[in-house]
Order: sequence, then C-alpha cells, then structure tokens
Amino acid sequence: MNDSRIQTAPSCGDDYDPASLPVEMALARIESTLDPIRGFEKVAIRSALGRVLAQDVSSTLNVPGYTNSAMDGYAINGAQIPSKGTRELQVIGTSWAGRPFRDEIAEDTCARIMTGAVMPPGTDTVIMQEHVEAQGEHIRFDASHHPGQNVRQAGEDIAKGEVVLTKGKSISPADIGLLASLGTGEVLVHRRLRVAFFSTGDELRAIGEPLEEGMIYDSNRYTLHGMLTRLGADVIDMGVIKDVREDTLEAFADAANCADVIITSGGVSVGEADYVKETLDKVGKVNFWKVAMKPGRPLAFGRVNDAYFFGLPGNPVSVMITFYIFVQPALRKLSGESKTENLTLNVPCLSTLRKRSGRVEFQRGILERNDKGQHQVRKTGAQGSGILHSMTKANCLIVLPLASSGVEPGTEVEVIPFQGLV
Ligand code: AMP
Ligand code: MG
Repeated sequence: MNDSRIQTAPSCGDDYDPASLPVEMALARIESTLDPIRGFEKVAIRSALGRVLAQDVSSTLNVPGYTNSAMDGYAINGAQIPSKGTRELQVIGTSWAGRPFRDEIAEDTCARIMTGAVMPPGTDTVIMQEHVEAQGEHIRFDASHHPGQNVRQAGEDIAKGEVVLTKGKSISPADIGLLASLGTGEVLVHRRLRVAFFSTGDELRAIGEPLEEGMIYDSNRYTLHGMLTRLGADVIDMGVIKDVREDTLEAFADAANCADVIITSGGVSVGEADYVKETLDKVGKVNFWKVAMKPGRPLAFGRVNDAYFFGLPGNPVSVMITFYIFVQPALRKLSGESKTENLTLNVPCLSTLRKRSGRVEFQRGILERNDKGQHQVRKTGAQGSGILHSMTKANCLIVLPLASSGVEPGTEVEVIPFQGLV
C-alpha cells in the first residue's frame, strides 16, 4: 500500500484510495441496517408474478390427487407379468383422462389407459402401447416389465399439508402454476417498495429539449426506471434537480416524505457543484460514501429519516453497476425476499484485462460458448465508466477481485450473468 499518496476526492475514474471501503464491507454495512417493510396485501395469483410471499403456503391437496398413468398403454396387475416367455390378456375397457374406468380388473384381463387417467381397481402397472402386440381384444407382452412401472402415485409430487412455497420467495411462473394446481387463487405478499429517484446536474436536458453546447441528455433516470420496474418497485420519478444547495435539500425532504428508499445519481463526489453527500450529512446520516471499486467509487449510503438513501455516481455505467451490486440486493431484502445472491460462474477469459490491485473491478463481458460448447467470456471493448454502450453489448459482468492486477488470456475469471430463467 502507498500511504504517502495524496488523498484525493473520489471520482469514477480514480485510482486506489486507502479511505475507500472494500466492497464486501460496504455490502455488510448495508445489510446490517436493512429492516424489511411490513405492509402486506392479498393478490390474485395472476398478479403475483415477482411479488414476495409473506407467508408459507401449504398444500390442501395431494398432487397428483389420484394414482394415474404416466403413459398411453395398458393398465395391468403387476402379478400378471410373466417370469419368462409372454403373456396374453383380454382388454375389457378404456380409462381416459377425466373419464375413469371403474370396473375391477380380474386375472387375465387389463384396460386400455391414457396418460393422466385414473388407474382402474386391481391395476398397479402400465405397459406402454409400443411394447405390446395387440390383436383384436387381446394384447401380448413379454417378461421385460416391472410391477409398478409407468404409474404416478397419488401425493407423489406434493403430499397434503406439505409446505410447498416458503415466505420470502419471489413468485415465479412455476410458483403460480403450482398454486393453481392446488386450487389456490390468492396469496399474501409484501406490499411493493416505494422508491423515489432523481438525477442531479446542471448539464442534464430532458428528451425533446435541444442540446446546447455542453449539455447532455439525462439517461440515468431511464436506466434506473428500467432496473426498478424490473424489480417490481413502485417508482416515483422526481426528475432532474439542479446543482443548487437549496434545490437538493428540498428534493431530499420531498423524497423522504413519500418513499422507503431514495436513489440519486451524480453530485456525490466533492466537486464544487456536488451537493448530494453534503446534503445527506446535513439532513440524514452518512454510513459510508467511498467504495474501493471501479467503476463507482463515490457511492453514498445512509438514511434520511426513515428512508434508506443510495447516492449513486453520475457516470451511466457506474450507476448500473453500483445498482446491481449494492442497491438491487438491498431492495430485494427490504421487499421481504430471503434469498438475494447473484448466480456467478467461473469461465476462461479470452481477453487481456488491465486492472490495478487494491479495488474490485467490474468489467463488461460477453459470455458465450466456443465451438466445443464450453463457456468463455471476452470483454465488450472500451470499458470507460461513461460508455453505456459497453453495457448494452454485454450480457455479464466480469468480477476482478481486490488483489488481481490484471488477467492474461486463458485465465479463469468470475462472471455474473445479467439474466437467468426465472
Ligand atoms: P457527477 O458525478 O455529477 O460529476 O457526474 C459524473 C459524470 O456523469 C458527468 O460526466 C456527468 O455529466 C455524467 N452524468 C451525471 N448524471 C447523468 C445523467 N443523469 N445522465 C447521463 N449522464 C450523467
Ligand atoms: Mg454532476
């Protein structure tokens, strides 16, 4: 470590700073302050996608509710399977899905059966139709079958009374189907998290306005809107706040009045026109405001009254990465979710990655398969924290740990894929 280095104010592009908090420590500090919201509501299962279950769901039924066939074929008593040679049985009826055959199946007889149909009384085994020789009302099959085969037992998927979904789970399409299969039409979920957000910067213009010299369009509010909507938050877009002390104070007060969480972008460093950290200090509590990472070093976390506060950097890529690494897991936890880790993979990296030790770096990567079908990753190109294009081209983040001082082609790296199936 170089302690003689002059300590400078953080910005997205800065190098090592001994006063910055390691990523793990920043995550732990955030985690230790989080207290999930307590409001609940009942919703119809169709509206429950992505909502967080507020209580365990137990099954009121056995699934399947009755023992049934897993195949189209013939329902027999397993004792009729010959020990060698073949056996012939008479087909005395058909059990259809939804139209059971109710007669007892006696010795030397069997029933035709369709997938999902109830097993007729006296049967416990299904022979696939492809495995019999059918002649008129008779079938013949050999000794290669086993008693009990091709049958789904009542309660095999879910036993009555069993907990099938635990509270704290984010409800997936499969969960909704499962609830429907139990005849459950409504579930109790946590209310949506209210998140207020605004951009700061005199240089920001709204879409539709002309761009005078030195001005840029505000993109961060749109990215944030997308990321928050995908998380299922109630979003409160407060627009652009000028780099003016009083305006910033007012925006903080308004946001704290209406939201569980406040997110800002820009103005969090200590430049002449950066009022975010100063305001957080004045009207709230700063927990930390510098993290040893790139991009995203100036990142303020704290409280304003009852609201949690995240002051993200201004650079568009830094906004997204600090959101995914710090804000998203926090919002999920506040929403009542119990499991919030991101899935990571270790794969060989094809590119040379330049990096300084002493901070964690999140580079933008493209995860793909080579012609042998093995996963590999390469970087998207220029990695500047203002190059939002590097995020649109990427499908993963490459995580380079604190101690790493760069990567040569062929080295394994950790990646966080942007999306998985849910
Ligand atoms: P700041 O942290 O406010 O100094 O901003 C750092 C960089 O990010 C500057 O180049 C800003 O112009 C840019 N920036 C800040 N806010 C936004 C925004 N909402 N949309 C796009 N770029 C922004
Ligand atoms: Mg600014």
